[in-house]
Formats: sequence, structure tokens, C-alpha cells
Amino acid sequence: MLAVVKTENRQEVAVRPVQLPKLSSGEVLIEVDYCGVCGSDLHAYNHAPGYEFVELPRILGHEVSGVVVQVAEDEDQHLLNQRVVIESIQYCGECSNCRSERTHICERFRVIGLHFDGGMAQFVKCHSRFVQKIPDALSSPIAALVEPLSIAIHAAESIGRVKTGDKVWVQGCGIIGLFVGVVCGLAGAEVTISGLPRDKEARLRHASDFGLKSFIVGESANSNEKVDLLFECSGSPGGIRDGLERLKKGGRTVMVALYEQDIPLPLTKAVRNEWELLTSYGCQPVDYGSSFSILKQLESQLQNIVSIYPVTMAPQAFNDALQQKVLKPVLSLRG
Ligand SMILES: [Zn+2]
Ligand SMILES: [Zn+2]
Repeated sequence: MLAVVKTENRQEVAVRPVQLPKLSSGEVLIEVDYCGVCGSDLHAYNHAPGYEFVELPRILGHEVSGVVVQVAEDEDQHLLNQRVVIESIQYCGECSNCRSERTHICERFRVIGLHFDGGMAQFVKCHSRFVQKIPDALSSPIAALVEPLSIAIHAAESIGRVKTGDKVWVQGCGIIGLFVGVVCGLAGAEVTISGLPRDKEARLRHASDFGLKSFIVGESANSNEKVDLLFECSGSPGGIRDGLERLKKGGRTVMVALYEQDIPLPLTKAVRNEWELLTSYGCQPVDYGSSFSILKQLESQLQNIVSIYPVTMAPQAFNDALQQKVLKPVLSLRG
């Protein structure tokens, strides 16, 4: 089978023939239809600090939609021929966090496509407990967005506790920023999403399709109006500091991005303003259910933000994503 392999060389992926995965007990084999290219795939592609744990060569990919074609256990027969997605965070089920339904921060968690081989391949295997069936009405390319949208749901709802009428500022207009904005908008918040001038024609172009206001740093007229809730999804060193300037006293900020360097924070100011400084990581299995419903609801707008590349063009997809030319590259594994 063909797979997209992250090689030992920085900013290089190669499309190569590799061995078909062999199932161990409890596992299922999935023939992959689509696999999204995620921010964390790009961090791995870049050999970013914090990604040293990724052993190379590695088949990347955790935003998978596909069809179960083989199961190791009789009890998993019901999954055969079903369209499924894979939960990216594979948890132990036994540690104290898992036992209190916080599987996304499992002490022994492993992410498919980073800790072990993932779904940018014609076939991928995983334990049956980490697959979720795709609702019939939802198309497979859009179903591949379920994980990034679930991450936004976790950030906006569970951590950010967004509510109707909140003024929300989303710093950063990548897919997670956009999705956080979308989830807050659906919750009845008034959302502005900020980006740079170069984002206007590419990543920010579709914000208004989802009812979000956009703000271009250095171009849009600034106002002194403060917001209730800030989501930092840019990962840029200046992003969090600029964003905090917009936060009202007693406001809440949720850091969702991952940072390639340590960033100093104005903590005295944070104390005097009693800002809540929160972090959000990953998502929980339950978030996938809400995520599927939102994907269905917004399917037609979402089709405009996805750029589909045949698997053989994976190097191009990574490059376009790194240069921020496209909002959401998705690989088609069936050619
Ligand atoms: Zn992802
Ligand atoms: Zn655990």
C-alpha cells in the first residue's frame, strides 16, 4: 500500500509503498478514504520543538475517515463495512484522568500518526474502541474534519464556557481558530476572528460564510471595546500579548495553540485584572457526537474551506499548508 511517510529530513514527506498493517487482538483495519493534514502534522514536518518524541520515519495522520475492512474480534463484526473516523487520542482507560472521564489528558496517552503509524496511508489499523461510526448523511471528506472541530468544541464549550451574548475574540485564523469561532457563533456569541493581511485572500476569506467578523492586524479600524472571552489559536509569540490587551477585567482566555517557543506573559496585569488563564488540549470521545451534528449542519460552507489533494501530491499539500495558502488540506487516499 502507499503511505505518506515523514522522513528523517526536515520539511520532507515521501509517498512510499509500505507493508500493510497486521492486526493484533482488539484491532480493526480501515481502508482510508480521506485524511486531513493537521497543525500537529505540520509541527512534526518542521521538526518543531516539542515534537522530538516522534520517531522517524513515521506515517503521519490522525484525521481519518474510511471503511472498516477487517476485524480481529468476533464482537467487532458489526463494524465491518461501516464508515468510521478514528479518535486521535488513544488513552489507557485506567489512569486517574481516564477514570474521571478526562481521557484527552490520559497520563499514558498516545496520538495516532505521531506516537505510532497513522492514517495517511491506504490502510490504517487501530483498536476498535477508538473508532466512531460516521452518520449516514455525512460525506466522507467532511467527516475527516470531525477531530479538529471536536478540539474547537472542547476549547469553546468545556474550557471556555462560552454563552449567548459573550463578546469573543479569536486570535489566529487557521482551521482551529475558525472552528472555535464557528462553535462560539453557534452558541450565540458575537465573534471576531483576527488574522494578518496575507490571510485575507486565503484563510480569512470564508469567515463571513460562518457569520464571523474578521479583523486584519494593521488594517482594520481598532476599537477600545473589550471582550469577555479570548481564544489564542495563533501560536505566535505576539498573539497572546496582543489578545490580552482586548480582554476585559475578569475576562477569560483559553490558549488552544501550541507554541514553538516559551513566551513571557504579563502576569501582574493578569492578576490585577483577575483574568482566567486557561488551556485546552485535544477533545473527548463525547465531543465527536456534537461535532458530527455541526459538520452536517454546515456541510455546504465547509466544502469551500477544504482543499483535496490526491495522496501522490502529499508533499505539495504539506508545502501549501505550511505557506498558509490553503485553510484545510485533506488527502484523498483512493487517488
Ligand atoms: Zn488534528
Ligand atoms: Zn489514562
